[in-house]
Amino acid sequence: MTPVTEYFGSLVFNDTTMKQRLPKETYKALKKTIQDGKPLDISVANVVANAMKDWAIEHGCTHYSHWFQPMTGITAEKHDSFITPTDGGKVIMEFSGKALIKGEPDASSFPHGGIRATFEARGYTTWDPTSYAFIKDGSLCIPTAFCSYTGEVLDKKTPLLRSMERISHEAVRVLHLFGKKDVTRVITTVGAEQEYFLVDKKVYEKRRDLIFTGRTLIGAKAPKGQELEDHYFGSIKTRVSEYMKDLDEQLWKFGIYSKTKHNEAAPAQHELAPVFTTTNLATDHNQLTMEIMQKVAEKHGLVCLLHEKPFAGVNGSGKHNNWSLSTNTGENLFNPSSNPEQNLQFLLFLAAVIKGVDEYQDLLRVSVASAGNDCRLGGYEAPPAIVSMFIGGDLEAVLEAMLRDKEYESKGRIEMGMGVDVLPEIKKDTTDRNRTSPFAFTGNKFEFRMLGSAINIACPNIMLNTIVAEELSQFADELEKADDFERAVRHIIKRTYKEHRRIVFNGNNYSEDWVQEAERRGLLNLRTMPEAMPYYISKKNIDLFEKHKIYTPAETHARYEVLLENYVNVVNIEALTLTEMVKRDIIPAVTKYIKSLADTAIAKKQILPNISTTVETELIEKLSFDLEECYSKLMQLEFHIKEVEKHTKNHSEKQIQALSEYVCGNVLTVMRDMRTVCDDMEVNTSAEYWPYPSYGELMTSV
Ligand code: ADP
Ligand code: MG
Repeated sequence: MTPVTEYFGSLVFNDTTMKQRLPKETYKALKKTIQDGKPLDISVANVVANAMKDWAIEHGCTHYSHWFQPMTGITAEKHDSFITPTDGGKVIMEFSGKALIKGEPDASSFPHGGIRATFEARGYTTWDPTSYAFIKDGSLCIPTAFCSYTGEVLDKKTPLLRSMERISHEAVRVLHLFGKKDVTRVITTVGAEQEYFLVDKKVYEKRRDLIFTGRTLIGAKAPKGQELEDHYFGSIKTRVSEYMKDLDEQLWKFGIYSKTKHNEAAPAQHELAPVFTTTNLATDHNQLTMEIMQKVAEKHGLVCLLHEKPFAGVNGSGKHNNWSLSTNTGENLFNPSSNPEQNLQFLLFLAAVIKGVDEYQDLLRVSVASAGNDCRLGGYEAPPAIVSMFIGGDLEAVLEAMLRDKEYESKGRIEMGMGVDVLPEIKKDTTDRNRTSPFAFTGNKFEFRMLGSAINIACPNIMLNTIVAEELSQFADELEKADDFERAVRHIIKRTYKEHRRIVFNGNNYSEDWVQEAERRGLLNLRTMPEAMPYYISKKNIDLFEKHKIYTPAETHARYEVLLENYVNVVNIEALTLTEMVKRDIIPAVTKYIKSLADTAIAKKQILPNISTTVETELIEKLSFDLEECYSKLMQLEFHIKEVEKHTKNHSEKQIQALSEYVCGNVLTVMRDMRTVCDDMEVNTSAEYWPYPSYGELMTSV
């Protein structure tokens, strides 16, 4: 077996490869471009492109592709071969700097929301040299940003890069005030823990709902779910283990730092966590991870489900976005330390996050909104739709003490002998982990847990970076004018905590009490996506994005529309799938079973006129009643689908909002009712007649 150290990153044109393959001058010029974020000189690009092509061809590539992340949330690629015709009917393999830097895919088939007014079909992809090129399926993939002919941003990468710049700029301002003049850049780091389900491909293929929608739309509860809590961290089955090994190997070849793997709470549910890296890379890597997870599964006769709620009644899948800030000098800004000056610095950055999360609860909620995540938030073992923050008892006590101008008393208190109040080193385990919090401080980073498993992590990170950049800029403005710096810092921390402590909640977020308590505190509880989305385009939020040059107002509106369109489409596909399942499979199956019960009852009576046929007649009665009920719901659902389809094209912003509300209030409600009836029929129908594998079969199929 080849050692991991040898093949790690073998499919990536990374720094080591660049150093080996590029002339010294070119390498230096490229590095400078990457570090300063300046456009690449075409002569440099030509040399880089040629070296990339030679390397790719040696690895069996014939094509190259600009790899980008349109607003659909998934990745897009269009492949061009390296061939260039020459004399004599021959070809040579060529790749120019121009082709490396810029691509021109037809953009009209990608979502663009309200931008369509000024929109032309032409789109541009431009190389993002901060993310390495890599080889996938015989193509050299070049990570790129995607914008329209007129310059509007059409992807997730560009705003993410912008937000990283913004937070860096503001954090550096603050750090300079703390005397850290050697800090020139602050990097946001992210480690995205990824949850997923594995099911057997043969079983999967028998379920239209899984095939078309990624989740089960019906299915009676299995006798055994996750009640015994015997799956979480349980020993991994051989077939799953084989899959995980293969997956790790593939991920490592792509230079992805896959680190931790374990079974999750629900049967057939698992998790993968990478070592954290810069947000841009973490985003590209997470997109690749999801893709590779699905491909590797196929090789093993499995299907990897990334939907947020594939099965009702057991845990859904999330993605924990671990987020922190670190300086180019290697300091993690959320690492609480025992040095008093640094403590103030830490507390100030903490205050910025507290203020940001409170003021922009709405945006954080919007950033994780999807039809799939609506099925998960507030459900089994998932954070509620209410955004709050866990900081732990120790930190809370520190802030409370500061607020009252009292000394912080703690067992772990460290005396510095300078008469200055100091923080104990707040280690990860001085306080218990709170696993129910949507946004938890976990020792030296924040864990944003509301993300659904299928989401592109760019959006939540764009929001997070921008929000905290805004708060830091306000703090910096104030501090730059202050006469007594330390007093001013203390003042800001105290004031911020006083004004925003309502967002801090260290208790159980899953409890019903919290819903009421949160309401008393005036926190938002945006249960569904249509309820949350209008906040995206509120003046406060549009202004925020405009001020920080993340999105123009038109771009914010466009994103709002794209997301809502997606919501309506997803639910509509689910509704159509359920309709098809009921009409083509369930009704025929149940009527057939009723017929066989009736035949049996008649046959029995013929042989023994006085025999009891209670079982047959009662089942017939129950099932017939359910069938009637199911059919009447089906008629309602078909009516709603027609209503929705009348309006799905060419709508205004108001119309798409109304449509999403209609879908949420009507389509999904009827679908849930239908599910109840179908699940009841499943329980009462012979397994031989029921057209789909049961929950029990699905969850134990591997
Ligand atoms: P958990 O108990 O949630 O599994 P871990 O400490 O194992 O906590 O970390 C989970 C994730 O957090 C990993 O992906 C890890 O790389 C990431 N992480 C750790 N430190 C940081 C940091 N400073 N910034 C961003 N992510 C981090
Ligand atoms: Mg975690």
